Amino acid sequence: MVKIQIPEAAEKIMEQLNVHGFEAYAVGGCIRDSLLGREPEDWDITTSAKPEQVKEIFSRTVDTGIQHGTVTVLIDRSGYEVTTYRIDGEYEDGRHPKSVEFTGNLLEDLKRRDFTINAMAYSGREGLVDAFDGRADLELGIVRCVGNAVDRFTEDALRILRAIRFCAQLGFHMERETEQAISAIAPNLAKVSKERIQVELTKLLLSAHPELVKNVYENGIGPFISERFEWAGKRMEEVESVRFLPPRKHMRWAGFLRMEDPGDAAAILRDLKMDNETVDGVSTLAGLWKRPIPAHKPAIRKVMSSLSEGLFDDLLCFQEVFCRGEYMEQLREVKQYSEEIRRDKDCIRLKDMAVTGRELIAAGRKPGPELGALLNNLFEEVLKCPEYNDREYLMELAKKL
Ligand code: ATP
Ligand code: MG
Repeated sequence: MVKIQIPEAAEKIMEQLNVHGFEAYAVGGCIRDSLLGREPEDWDITTSAKPEQVKEIFSRTVDTGIQHGTVTVLIDRSGYEVTTYRIDGEYEDGRHPKSVEFTGNLLEDLKRRDFTINAMAYSGREGLVDAFDGRADLELGIVRCVGNAVDRFTEDALRILRAIRFCAQLGFHMERETEQAISAIAPNLAKVSKERIQVELTKLLLSAHPELVKNVYENGIGPFISERFEWAGKRMEEVESVRFLPPRKHMRWAGFLRMEDPGDAAAILRDLKMDNETVDGVSTLAGLWKRPIPAHKPAIRKVMSSLSEGLFDDLLCFQEVFCRGEYMEQLREVKQYSEEIRRDKDCIRLKDMAVTGRELIAAGRKPGPELGALLNNLFEEVLKCPEYNDREYLMELAKKL
């Protein structure tokens, strides 16, 4: 019999439900990951208890998605999603089920799930419930729809991207019928919300095989994500090395979109409702990575001054992955120099200059745009030579500028 180690708190929740006469299982991603020997991100529980009954049993709960049957049970500082067995009603425009119906039958609940590897449940009492041979597919390394693939993708087209994403995360292949259905149903993705699409694409790019973003284009999905996204596919270059970037959102997206000009990269991401911080990081990297940084401290300080500390390091890492040839030696020097700049605490921020606007005003300068320009000129001098960052010297210099 398969034995899965369930965290104590989740085990307790299931026991409590059992004590009150309900069935309860850990289900979905946590079972898949446990069987693969991977650390599950969270433990979802499925139960025959209705949401109100779950709320009666546990003292601390949050109505997370009560209309879909989900209540979060809080134990210590962690939350566990407890969802009532349900049958999804008809899907509205391939978006969300119009209605959900609760059921007392675990098998009905497992049937509504997307892939065989995600449709297994487990409890210490009952062991593994694997009605669709998910375990065999895990061993074969296959992503296969539960039931008829065309029907399942028609119900919810996001599953198309989920299928590719699971292949990328787990290093799996698509089962044939599932793969064929993907191209056929791809147009339905036009009806899926951009945020949901973005979340899946991000997970794909953050996975062990970000290069599988190629599959999105090869299956004809690109135009149904957005027109700009489709164009990006045509310009996309070698994606194999994207996996050498650290798995951080802005880095991986920038790796994928690096041939775009920064404005287009930003527009693609905005279409997908990406957060501003990521959009900024991606467009900055896309704009800068092709420009060699001179192995010369003043020029390096200048680049450093224009970026946050983290983003400068990201830029060097990005160039290490994507630049080739003679520049590599130069890049090593740039890195060495930038470490010295940090070690010596050279002034690379306007705010760290030895004179302030206020001091210049006290010395008789008028406030306004000219003062800003003067400060910038002084800063330029300091970037050239950190020894100039001396109050007296800069006040003297200011008189001449
Ligand atoms: P991860 O958390 O790594 O993204 P997961 O498998 O846990 O993977 P979730 O999105 O957290 O994925 O969903 C939990 C479970 O709910 C899945 O394992 C699957 O059984 C079911 N599920 C999620 N989304 C869908 C969907 N669009 N269609 C059908 N079933 C789904
Ligand atoms: Mg999950």
